[in-house]
Amino acid sequence: MLINCPYCGPRDLSEFSYQGDGNRTRPDPASTDQAEWNAYVYDRTNIAGDHNEIWQHAGGCRAHLRLTRNTLTHKITSVSFARDERHKKPHGHRRSGAHS
Ligand SMILES: [Zn+2]
Repeated sequence: MLINCPYCGPRDLSEFSYQGDGNRTRPDPASTDQAEWNAYVYDRTNIAGDHNEIWQHAGGCRAHLRLTRNTLTHKITSVSFARDERHKKPHGHRRSGAHS
């Protein structure tokens, strides 16, 4: 299986490490809702079809990638930098540091 890293180009699967399900949303760190944290840590879907996943190009540029892989055929239909997703989601609990 080849993964087409947006920075390095097509590379063998052995250069990548699976980082997890790309569909999960981490609860607010200040949350004490045990059910919410339990679901985040333990609950997984078992999709037969297109699955949103996070991979790291550990043997290359070390970038984290978000890709869509079909779990039945292993065909990858999209690959992008996971960091690009940060700019699309609001982060109400994060602060930007010393910059104002
Ligand atoms: Zn790469």
